[in-house]
Amino acid sequence: MKIDFNDYARGAGLATDLVNTAPEVRRIAGEALAALPDLRRFLDERGVDAELTADDLAEVHELRRELRVLLDAEDEDQVAEGAADLVRRAGIGPLLGRDADGRWKWQVETAPDSPLVDELAALAGLGLLGALRALGHNRFRHCASPDCEGAFVDTSKAGRRRYCTPDLCGNRINVANHRARHRTT
Ligand SMILES: [Zn+2]
Repeated sequence: MKIDFNDYARGAGLATDLVNTAPEVRRIAGEALAALPDLRRFLDERGVDAELTADDLAEVHELRRELRVLLDAEDEDQVAEGAADLVRRAGIGPLLGRDADGRWKWQVETAPDSPLVDELAALAGLGLLGALRALGHNRFRHCASPDCEGAFVDTSKAGRRRYCTPDLCGNRINVANHRARHRTT
């Protein structure tokens, strides 16, 4: 796998999405990665190609716990060190690749035959490092919904994201706010 340095939104997004598949976040719907086909779909939707084996699910659950610790960390140096540890699990140093227009771009390559979980660790770790450097630690947030234990990294341009899963957590509150506005006008 080759991971673009500048496309930190992809890795940070994967870290966010993975963390929010956990049963402690999805208290009503429950574990979103309960079986291998769930993981298959999760990876397909994020353009990650992999041959899955029976061990992958438990390993990805463990990575999810490690990512949650980093998203929750109050000390940004802990984020930087922890994310670098994740990158080291499969990353073997920078190289130059070409973008669609033929221009050079920085990439990190993962070691051949790395286990899936280590490739995901490198992808997510680089995303967290990139987001921390480019956007700052205040983009690492807890979901604003009072009913949700989710966490996320806001890589949006405006930086005003409030919910871990905007379609789910934002919805009910948006509706309530909308009604409240209507009542006062
Ligand atoms: Zn949420």
